[in-house]
This record gives sequence, C-alpha cells and structure tokens, in this order.
Amino acid sequence: MRKQIVAGNWKMNNDLAQTEALISKLKAQTKTTDAEVMVAPTFTNLYQANKALENSTIEVVAQNMHFAENGAYTGEISASMLKSIGVNTVILGHSERREYFNETDELLAKKVDAALAKGMRVIFCFGEELADRKSGNEETVVGNQIKNGLFHLGAAAFQDIVLAYEPVWAIGTGETASPEQAQDMHAFIRKTLADKYGNDVADEVSILYGGSVKPANAEEIFSKPDVDGGLIGGAALNADDFFAIVNAF
Ligand code: 13P
Repeated sequence: MRKQIVAGNWKMNNDLAQTEALISKLKAQTKTTDAEVMVAPTFTNLYQANKALENSTIEVVAQNMHFAENGAYTGEISASMLKSIGVNTVILGHSERREYFNETDELLAKKVDAALAKGMRVIFCFGEELADRKSGNEETVVGNQIKNGLFHLGAAAFQDIVLAYEPVWAIGTGETASPEQAQDMHAFIRKTLADKYGNDVADEVSILYGGSVKPANAEEIFSKPDVDGGLIGGAALNADDFFAIVNAF
C-alpha cells in the first residue's frame, strides 16, 4: 500500500531560535495516524533541526538543492551536502522555485536525477496556474510538467518519488481546491503514470495535495481515494494546526 504523508514546507520562515521553538512544540504533539510526517526548514536550520528530531518519527527534509555534485555554483547546496547532515529527502519543483527562480522542467529533470543518484527521496511538485484552469488546460499543463520532469526515469525510480500537486492559485491564497477538484486531478495524475509505467507503479506512488490545507479542510481532502496526504505551507508553522492536519487521516 502506498504511504500517507504529511509534509510541512516552512519556506523562508523561522530563524534558528524560532525553528528550535517550533520543533519543541512538534515533539510535544501526539500522532494518532500512520501518516509519515516531514518538515522542511530552511538550509541554515537543517542541521540543527535534524539533530533536534533525531529520536522522533518526524523526518527533516530540504526545500531545494542544486544538480551539480560540487564546484563553482555560488550560493548553492548539493545532494551530497544534504546527505552528509542526514537529510535524505528533498522537495523539488515547488511553484515558487519555478516562478521566482526560473526553474524549468529541464532543470528539474537534472535535479531529480542528481537526488536519485545520491539515494535521496524526491517530493516532486507541480501544478497549474489560475489562467490554465480558467482556460480548461490544467490537465495538459500538469501532464507536461510530470512528463518533462520525470518520464525519462525508469519504473524503479518511482520507489523514491513522491508527487505533490499544488495548484498555484491555491497556494497561500486561502482558496483550496475543492476535494473533488483535488481528487479529479490526482486520478488524472495516477492515470498518466499508469499509461506510461503500468498500474503497479501508479498505485504505489503517493500523491500529496498542497494549497491552503488547514485543520478545517484536511479531513475531507484526505478522504479522497487518490489523495495520499498533504504538503502544507502556512498551517505547518503552527504545531497544533500541523498535527491536527497529520491526524486528519
Ligand atoms: P499554503 O499551505 O500556505 O497554501 O502553501 C502550500 C505550499 O506551497 C506547500 O508547499
């Protein structure tokens, strides 16, 4: 059975003291579900966060990485650097990276390869913009993001891939995709995978929904058959809200 996952993407929030304070609060929470729990602090706080969560069931993951092993890439971080501090999972392709840092499908395909080559797990994000949905092109856009970013991979690679559908119009806007919109898109994503790799691969890949998930709407979204969890932004910055979402399965 595919895994249920709730991951908190802290984005560019929380300095070291705030990170430690949030982690203390997270450690005081009780998980009542089987869902895997992850949090993604900023690069500067990854090491400390990982140490602080060493004996917990919460995994610390990175928000981004570069595709190169090392070298003259000022300001960048490689997969081996992440691995060296015990971070084994990385979020790639977030819409904010695509929009503000010009990350293209082609670049993301290279990052995915670099992460997998180091034995890392990838949470691969994608999602359409409002204009795409208004013009009825959301499936074409999402299908292309998945094909261009991932379809050069062999089937076995999908053991280390988690997909995250995050419609851009629902991120940080308070506007959530309806549970039906999320289910429809997740079913389309799974069918896209099945058409290329077969049902066995498609059925095992976890597909997370992201975009204004809150305690009040998580249960209904997670109840949909093709929604295997969530990638949580704003609500993940509050330990009570985040665990209310974790425990919504
Ligand atoms: P919000 O939950 O704040 O809408 O952010 C979603 C997101 O971008 C998670 O990666």
